[in-house]
Amino acid sequence: MSLVTADKLASLLKLSHDLGREDRGLAMLGEGNTSCRVDADTFLVKASGSSLANLQENQLVACRFSALLPLLRAEPMTDAEVEKALLESRVDPTQPKPSVEAVFHAYFLSLPGIDVVGHTHPVAVNSILCAGEAASIKFAHERRFPDEIVCCGAKSVLVPYVDPGTILAQKIMLETDQFITAENRPPRVILLQNHGLIAIGATTGSVLAATLMAEKTARIFLGSATLGGAVGLTPQNVARIDSRPDEHYRQKMLKL
Ligand SMILES: [Zn+2]
Repeated sequence: MSLVTADKLASLLKLSHDLGREDRGLAMLGEGNTSCRVDADTFLVKASGSSLANLQENQLVACRFSALLPLLRAEPMTDAEVEKALLESRVDPTQPKPSVEAVFHAYFLSLPGIDVVGHTHPVAVNSILCAGEAASIKFAHERRFPDEIVCCGAKSVLVPYVDPGTILAQKIMLETDQFITAENRPPRVILLQNHGLIAIGATTGSVLAATLMAEKTARIFLGSATLGGAVGLTPQNVARIDSRPDEHYRQKMLKL
């Protein structure tokens, strides 16, 4: 293993343990998954059935982009066909089976500037995403305070509920591609209705920050509901924070 790969592996394990911490309520048991790009051809992703909290080196599977990206445009597949594709995507066939969500990880890691992906099922975020469309749209499309914009971007992608696996990966790609066309940059946070959150970024630090800030925002959103509901910043105020040079400097210093 090269030094660079060893470094990325250690960093991804640290992110996985941070996201799996029981006190944070982001993921428990086998929930959630993480990944990072190794090079132009391969990426590391959490093995199926492993836990973020105590993920080990041998539970990160190296997969080939070329084996998984075609599934984003494939006709509906049977569970057996998906399983076969996942197993065949491994660089080393002695490694365990990659997570069924490896297909959306491959998609995000193929976007320019995105090298790390973290997917979790956070308690407060899911309280909103399980509360119906109106609350989910408000949470995804509005912003409540400046640091939410700094860590989570000016807007999140919202993906309606579909079956986890290739169908979900295809829906995620569709909604994210639309966002990139409209906003001219990738999102930081993707919200999956009745399911959970995906944070993407250039570093493990930016993925952890986006996840923790989204969960903090969700708690504030839920807290405000007892006082009549959270009031979002105006689009002008959101755009102002999003473009302030001092906020960009802060993002750079915090490696966000
Ligand atoms: Zn999930």
